[in-house]
Amino acid sequence: MPDDVSIPAEVLALVARSNSLGRDRRITNYGGGNTSCKVEVEDPVTGESRHLLWIKGSGGDLGSLTVDGLAVLDLDRVRALRRRYRGPEDEARLMGLLAYCRYGPAGPSPSLDTAFHALLPAAHVDHTHATAIVTLATCARGPELVRELFGDRVAWVDWRRPGFALAVELLELVEGRPKLEGVVLAGHGLVSWGDTSEACEATTRSIIDAAADLVAARTTAPPAPRRTSTPRPAALAPHLRRVCSTDRRSVAAFVDAPEVLGFLDNPTARELVDRGTSCPDHLLRTRDRPLFLDLDADRDLRVQIDEAHRAYRDRYRAYYERHADADSPPMRGADPRVVLVPGVGMWTFGADARDAAITAEYYRQAMEIMQAAEGLGGYRPLSDRERFDIEYWDLEAAKLDRRPPPPALQGVVALVTGAASGIGRAVALALGAAGAAVVAADLDRPGADAVADEIESGGGAGTGIALDVADEDSVIAAVEATVERYGGIDVLVNSAGVASGEPLLDTTAEGWNEVAAVFGRGTFLLSREVARAMITQGCGGDIVHIVSKNAVVAGPGNVAYAAAKAAQLHQVRLLAAELGAHGIRVNAVNPDAVVRGSGLFRGEWAEARADAHGVSVEDLPSFYASRTLLGEEVLPEHVAAAVLALVDGTFPRTTGAYLPVDGGLPAAFPR
Ligand SMILES: [Zn+2]
Repeated sequence: MPDDVSIPAEVLALVARSNSLGRDRRITNYGGGNTSCKVEVEDPVTGESRHLLWIKGSGGDLGSLTVDGLAVLDLDRVRALRRRYRGPEDEARLMGLLAYCRYGPAGPSPSLDTAFHALLPAAHVDHTHATAIVTLATCARGPELVRELFGDRVAWVDWRRPGFALAVELLELVEGRPKLEGVVLAGHGLVSWGDTSEACEATTRSIIDAAADLVAARTTAPPAPRRTSTPRPAALAPHLRRVCSTDRRSVAAFVDAPEVLGFLDNPTARELVDRGTSCPDHLLRTRDRPLFLDLDADRDLRVQIDEAHRAYRDRYRAYYERHADADSPPMRGADPRVVLVPGVGMWTFGADARDAAITAEYYRQAMEIMQAAEGLGGYRPLSDRERFDIEYWDLEAAKLDRRPPPPALQGVVALVTGAASGIGRAVALALGAAGAAVVAADLDRPGADAVADEIESGGGAGTGIALDVADEDSVIAAVEATVERYGGIDVLVNSAGVASGEPLLDTTAEGWNEVAAVFGRGTFLLSREVARAMITQGCGGDIVHIVSKNAVVAGPGNVAYAAAKAAQLHQVRLLAAELGAHGIRVNAVNPDAVVRGSGLFRGEWAEARADAHGVSVEDLPSFYASRTLLGEEVLPEHVAAAVLALVDGTFPRTTGAYLPVDGGLPAAFPR
């Protein structure tokens, strides 16, 4: 930024207020609402005074808003647009002209609500979707309750889509009523204002608090929830993911919090959700209605889910066809994004884990609103016609177009064993960075958690779990945990390892069993449990084994390890043969001498290898490198890159294969 441009104090106050309001989830949920301020500044180019509007950019989040997330507009030019306004059919043209009102270097696109922020006279304006306010806004007695609660402080405004028509309506309302501090927009939320940032925040909070007090005083909490033992969430999830990935592979979030189960127990729950969702801002994520599954324990699960899903898609297509016209954007798929199962919980589906979690947050708010509004005198959301116009409004759709292209593994769920260190860790991080939701499993639980945290802090989705691959119950629990956490599984990477290297005469029966338990039995157990879930899902999948060049090269002093690795490699071919009919590919990566970062090349094992080769432990990497054709050291990242290529669609017609990552060892060439 040039020296003669500074951020006005009012704008810094706006950012602080936005963060304060945005971090309070009672007031606004992720990405919801917007805030603005109007400031007079000296133009650094002309030295003349300019009136500017600073407003949250479209799609940003108030809780984490920074100055860079604000759009800056020339206020006089935005207000001049009012003279260009020709009526409600003119909104798209005016939104286009808004781009010609921007001021200064390029920032984010201004919010769709820019018009009312600009036209309202107050210096500071907040627009929020607080749960208590939306409850009033979707209640049949809303106008009456707002009058009772606020008198002439807050007005009720009938539903109107955001845009210039709404802005002009609000301006005309305010002009005659100096005492007015805010308006409740029917079916939508709150607009409130003040002359200073502090006054604006105080007003916003006081209106929301009063509404929350009224809702709390006049509604009752749902009864203690019933929780059924069947079907278990992990048994149901792969079926749901199968049907909810008909249009596009999706990741799920699962919620069985008491308030969700309590809502679903309500005898009117189904009828309430069938009236349609409460929040127009959420439609692009939640759709108009959820799939409500009242399962009959005596009927086949798959048949019931298929029937309900087909009926949902038919209904959604009919809703689209009833309301779409020639100018409407094409239908964006017809799968449900929210699935409600009384006694079990709620699944939400999104393009990735984060998307699914936001949808869950939105629908939890919607359920709370439906229940409270019904208790206050009747839940009455927008009509289908109005809802459709928002869902398929080209300006809302433009928000979707602005999203960056999806990463290679978006929508993929991966389980990586041995993920706390070495190759497993590198694989988990690489899959996470490529967009997969990753469950990092290891005997070393804190180490697995640290890898998951590293994935999350890079903007991905990761969960750490404890896993002993030699223990059948532990394996079953790990696969269930993966399926419960993200709705299913698409990639298994068998990377857990154990160090061993004794001559035949020193190898004990226990030592043999210990190695075989990890590489033969452990990978078999994991593959079996994961294949069960993958077959139920019906979306194919990838199983990748990290084997070893020792599976194909014989040398002295390594009988237990190398024989177990050879068995693991043959398992790859056997499983490829058996699972190909389900679209599940099974492949191996054969690394050699990955020393750095390895959990195995530590302590006695490293010393023994160094002794055997007559070099120091520090010189082991260069010693191994010197034995290869390329003369280069093999790092965990090189193995991870090979795994990524096997699962990201680069080799869609390859199964039963092994890919050496060893720097080039003629003795290990496939033959
Ligand atoms: Zn809004």
